[in-house]
Amino acid sequence: MPTEGTSTEPVEATGDAGPRRPIQKLSPLLVNQIAAGEVIERPASVVKELVENALDAGATRIRVELEAGGLKLVRITDDGSGIPPDELPMALEPHATSKITEAEDLDRVGTLGFRGEAVASIASIARMRIRSRAAGSDECWEIASEGGSTSDARPASGPPGTTFEVRDLFFNTPARRKFLKTPQTERGRCLDWLRDLALAHPAVGFTMLSEGRSVLELPPGQGPRTRAASILGKELEGELLEVSADEHDDSRGIGLWGLVGTPSVARATAKAQHVILNGRVIRDRVIQHAMREAYRGLIEPGRHPTAVLLLEMPPGAVDVNVHPAKLEVRFRDGSLVYAVVHRAIRDALRAADLTPAFGGEGTLPRFLSPAEVLPPPTERVAPGKAVDAAAFAREVRELAIQPAKDGKVDLDTVRRALEEKATALEARLTAAEEQAPGVAHEVVRTDAGDASLPTPKRADRVLQVHNSYLLTQDSEGVVIIDQHALHERVMFERLLERVGEQGTLESQSLLTPVVVEATSGQMAAAEKLGDLCAQIGLTLRELGPRSLGIEAFPTFLFERKVDPSEFVRDVLARAEEDGFAPDAEEAMREVLDMMACKAAVKAGDRMSDGELEELLTLRERYERASRCPHGRPTAVRLTIEQLERLFGRR
Ligand code: ADP
Ligand code: MG
Repeated sequence: MPTEGTSTEPVEATGDAGPRRPIQKLSPLLVNQIAAGEVIERPASVVKELVENALDAGATRIRVELEAGGLKLVRITDDGSGIPPDELPMALEPHATSKITEAEDLDRVGTLGFRGEAVASIASIARMRIRSRAAGSDECWEIASEGGSTSDARPASGPPGTTFEVRDLFFNTPARRKFLKTPQTERGRCLDWLRDLALAHPAVGFTMLSEGRSVLELPPGQGPRTRAASILGKELEGELLEVSADEHDDSRGIGLWGLVGTPSVARATAKAQHVILNGRVIRDRVIQHAMREAYRGLIEPGRHPTAVLLLEMPPGAVDVNVHPAKLEVRFRDGSLVYAVVHRAIRDALRAADLTPAFGGEGTLPRFLSPAEVLPPPTERVAPGKAVDAAAFAREVRELAIQPAKDGKVDLDTVRRALEEKATALEARLTAAEEQAPGVAHEVVRTDAGDASLPTPKRADRVLQVHNSYLLTQDSEGVVIIDQHALHERVMFERLLERVGEQGTLESQSLLTPVVVEATSGQMAAAEKLGDLCAQIGLTLRELGPRSLGIEAFPTFLFERKVDPSEFVRDVLARAEEDGFAPDAEEAMREVLDMMACKAAVKAGDRMSDGELEELLTLRERYERASRCPHGRPTAVRLTIEQLERLFGRR
C-alpha cells in the first residue's frame, strides 16, 4: 500500500532500546492521532461519532452514505442546528466543544458528546470536509482538512444543517488499516451502530446508503416500540415481551422500558442485545449479568437473550466519562440498576407462558387416524406366533460381525450364510401363514407397498407414564397413547369381530345367580333387551317384581374381572334413561361399547410388561380396521419436526 502524507505511526511506538532521545512536546497532529487511536477504530466509529454530533445538534433526519464500507467515504448529512462559519475552524481543533464549559457540567452531561475530541481525531487520520449552514442563516460555508492542515473556510451552498465528509480513513497511518476488515464487514459494523443509535432515538429519521443504494430507511417520528419493531425485524414479532419499570416505584428514579425475546429467540452471541442509557448506546456488565440471571434456567448457558432496553436515569446517577468512546459507564448504584433490570425481565418472563404447549400454530400435534399409524393390512404377515423377527435380526447381525479369518472377510461365506437365513425365514413365514389365526404375539411386516410412504416402525419400547399414558415412538416421532382409550378401542373391535363371526359371545353360567335390584322402569326395559342380552351372553331372569337374577355372564367380562351386578345395573340404567338405539346393530355396538369401557384398563392402572406388549399387539391388529368409531383419539403424535421447533433447533 502506498503511504501518503505524514507517516507518523502512533500505534507502532515500540520499546526499541536505541539511544535515548531528548524530551520533546508531541506535535498537535501526533497528539490527535494518538487520541484517534482511542476513539476511531474503524469506519463504524466515524459513523457513531458524527451521528452523535448530529443528534446533539438536534437533527430530525440524518443520512449516512458509505463507499467501500466507509473505507473510502463516510458522508453524514443532518438538518440540525449547523455550525456558524466563524466556528468552523474551531470544530476541527482538539479539546474544542460547544457542549460543556466547566467541570460541574461533567456531572450533568445532557449531550452525547462533551470531550471535544472526535472531529479533531478524525481530521488527523483522514481527509475531511465540513459544510454547514447554521439555523436561521442563508449562508452555507465549507472547510476542508487533510492530515492536520486545514484550509480557510469558503462559501458554499446547501440546505440548513451540516454535512461531514470523511474520505480515505487512515490514509496517513497505514498500520491502522491492517486492523480493518473487508468493506462488507465494515459496512455491516456501520449499519449495526446506526441501528443502535436509531433505537436510542426513535423520533429521528435515519437513512443509510451504501454505494448509492439504500440499506436502512427509518422515518422520523417513530415511538420506541415501532422503532424497535422495525429494527428487530418481522421474524421476531410475536416473540417479544414488553418489560418496564416505573421510575416512581422503588426503582428510585430509574426508568426502564424495553422488549425482550422469548427464550426461543436467544442467540449464540450478545449482538442482539441493545442497551441504551439516556439515549446513549452502552455495553454494561452489570446489565448483561442482570439479563443473564433473569433468563437463568430458561436458556442454555452460553446463549444470549435478545433484548432492547431503554434506561433513563438522572445524569447524576451515572458517570459517562470513563471510556473514550463512552461505551462504558459507571453507575453510582450498580446493584440498584441490576435489581431494576433483573426484576423487570423476570416479571415479564413469568407473566408469559413459556412452556411450549400443544397448541399454537405449528406446534399442535395432529390426532392420528389409525390408518396413519399403521400400514394397510396387505403390508403385513400377521398370523401365527412362529416368527421372531428380533431373533432373526440378531442372527444376521452376528453373522455380520463374525471375526474375519486371517484378517480377511470372505464375502462368499457371508453371502451364503445370509442366503441360508433368508430361506429359513421364508419357510417360517409360510408355515406361520398356514397356521390357524390366533393372537399374534410377534408381528412381522414386509416393507412392500407404497415406497413413498415411510413405513412406521413397530414400537420396540414402551413406557407407561403416570399409570395412564403410554409413550412410544414410530418413524415420525413420539407417540403418546391414552391407555384406557386404546384398550377400550381394541377390545370393542375385538368384541365386534367376535359377534360378527359367531353371532353371539361366549357365556359363563353362574352357579348361584347374582341378584340385582331394579326399578319398575328398569324391569320393563330389561324385557325389551332380551335379544341383545342373549347375543352378548347375558342371561337375566325375573326373580320378583323389583329384582333380577343374573344366570349367565359374558366370559369376556368375567375374565376381565368385571363385577356382574355393577355391569347389569349400568345396562339397566342406560336402558331406562337414554334407551339403546332402535336399530339392532347400532344397539349392539352401544352395548359392546359399554362392555369394552368396563373391561378396559383405567387411567391410573399399572400395567405389566406383558399387558403393555399385548395392548400394542392388539393395537396393531385391531386399530387399523377401526376408522375412529368413537371420534376420540387414542393417540397423539409429536413429530420430530415439532420437537425440533419446540426446542429451537429450527
Ligand atoms: P463534542 O461532540 O465532544 O463536542 P466533537 O469533536 O465531536 O466534540 O465536535 C466538536 C464540536 O463541533 C461540537 O461541540 C459541535 O459544536 C460541533 N459539531 C460537530 N458536529 C456537528 C453537527 N453535525 N452539527 C452541529 N455542530 C456540530
Ligand atoms: Mg462529538
